[in-house]
Amino acid sequence: MPIRQLPHELAGQIAAGEVVERPVSVVKELLENSIDAGATRISVEIRGGGIEKISVADDGAGIPPDEVVLAFQRHATSKLDHPGLLDAIPTLGFRGEALPSIAAVSQMTMTTRQQDTDVGYGVEMAWGKLMGEGSQGCPPGTTVQVGDLFGNLPARRNFLRSPTAEGGRIGDLVARYALAYPQIAFSLKVGDRTTLSTPGDGRQANAMVAVYGADVVTNLLEVSWEDPDSGYSVEGFTGNPSLHRANRTYMTFFVNRRWIQSRMLTFALEEAYHGLLPEKRYPLAVLNLVLPYEDVDVNSHPGKREVRFRQDGKVYSALQRGVRDALLAHSPVRSVQSPPIGRGPVGSYEAGVGGFFRSPFDGRTSQTFSTPGDWGSVPGSGQSHPEGYGPPEAALTPQQTLPVLRVVGQVRLTYIVAESPDGMYLVDQHAAHERVLFDRIVREASQRESLSQPLLAPVHVELTTGQVSTLAEQREFLSDYGFELEEFGGTAYLVRSVPAVLTTRDPGKALVDVLDMVAFEGLLKEREDVLAASLACHSAIRAGQSMTEPEMRALLEQLEVTDNPHTCPHGRPTLIHFSAYNMEREFGRR
Ligand code: ADP
Ligand code: MG
Repeated sequence: MPIRQLPHELAGQIAAGEVVERPVSVVKELLENSIDAGATRISVEIRGGGIEKISVADDGAGIPPDEVVLAFQRHATSKLDHPGLLDAIPTLGFRGEALPSIAAVSQMTMTTRQQDTDVGYGVEMAWGKLMGEGSQGCPPGTTVQVGDLFGNLPARRNFLRSPTAEGGRIGDLVARYALAYPQIAFSLKVGDRTTLSTPGDGRQANAMVAVYGADVVTNLLEVSWEDPDSGYSVEGFTGNPSLHRANRTYMTFFVNRRWIQSRMLTFALEEAYHGLLPEKRYPLAVLNLVLPYEDVDVNSHPGKREVRFRQDGKVYSALQRGVRDALLAHSPVRSVQSPPIGRGPVGSYEAGVGGFFRSPFDGRTSQTFSTPGDWGSVPGSGQSHPEGYGPPEAALTPQQTLPVLRVVGQVRLTYIVAESPDGMYLVDQHAAHERVLFDRIVREASQRESLSQPLLAPVHVELTTGQVSTLAEQREFLSDYGFELEEFGGTAYLVRSVPAVLTTRDPGKALVDVLDMVAFEGLLKEREDVLAASLACHSAIRAGQSMTEPEMRALLEQLEVTDNPHTCPHGRPTLIHFSAYNMEREFGRR
């Protein structure tokens, strides 16, 4: 066949395919246009899962009559007026592709009126062609109606799921935007039923009540964190550890209020909850990352659902620290009143904030707790904490051993209560076990002791291309730790042996997790530690598991002999100390 330029109409349909994949993509583009237009009220209505009809009405700026037809031309936009702006895009839209793309695959009308004018303008399009235009009476703002989506592309229509499923995606999308823009009143009508309506009063908590219900909202912690160095900040809400879900769909991330999907952020969030949730349960969170526009490239996906960060590591740690801070600030220990500074004994650990009172990730304790007294201090871990963001291990010296601990019992199937001559200790069983295993893994790896444990039957795993490349880079390293793998065609592998320390029943999943962690966390830390930490995490006892007394005793004995018993490999505290002196003082015995 000779080479020929595609007919205009066909080219339009092909290009539209990238932007408009399914009904929810139409709603997303229209919502973004309304938000960019400064709307305070956006009403969405759908019929037949959005396939039959979608209508999005806003009270935004509107479009001047002489520009309405132009707006339907490909690459026509009012949002990018100089080339440099592409490096720092402040609006949700910028590609000038949504209206022409939607118009190419539907029957569409738009009526629009600028705020300060008396009369509006309307256009009617069908399958990419202009069918009519002219002045029209309409309220200020813009209303777009889209009907018979993909009516001209039956193959595409056949790819869609049931109207209920497609409608469900739209409901989910509108809810997420409602959460990100509490100052806008959103409503969604599915058929004749209003399924969502937010007040638009600017309070995110109220938007969350509308979306998730009041029960959930009482279990949310506010996240409000700013890194003074980078200027990155994280704001929003995250569930307290008692609020968890069976899958990851309740994690919503925005970057500069643009809803995005990101495996990296999902990881960072899960990592922040590390050890706090039962296995296979996931947090609920709605978080907005605020970064300088030039640090994020939003032009990497036609649907703008994914973005590229200039510095993944910074973003990752900002999100993780922000959430971690919120979690630590609300840890139950907070209810213990800390005595005013100065009342402690001479030579006590005034600055000893190695426990829950200080986030191990930064030095902002004083903002969260105005009087970080000596409750929660751990001998020796006080003054030596670094300012800034390094993991606390860096500053801990090897002499920081624990006294001999006697097990008293287990609390909430999560903490071990122990006593020593110098008071009481509350030990996080998962964190403590992680520390023990981590040390063992690192030690054995450095001594090149045999760590491998052959599996009775090799386990088949299917990796993603990203995981395959991590594997290729880290092959030797993984084998030092005891993973023996065999290529099995394409991206499939057989796991033949695993590190002996691994207790999981699912070695394939452990491998995948290890690869993902190494890929993401490797950006931040030494890979070796990441791998060891990941293995330790996979094998450590979890919160919620009951322990017998001998088990607890054995764990504490092992913890006592680790080099760094005070924190888990991720930098969380393994234990909190309640000194005998302070207990006596609080009870008025001193
Ligand atoms: P983009 O949003 O990338 O600029 P679109 O094809 O979505 O491209 O829209 C083209 C232009 O039409 C926008 O730049 C904007 O000027 C105008 N527009 C679209 N929708 C609206 C709306 N709801 N309110 C005001 N202007 C709109
Ligand atoms: Mg747009």
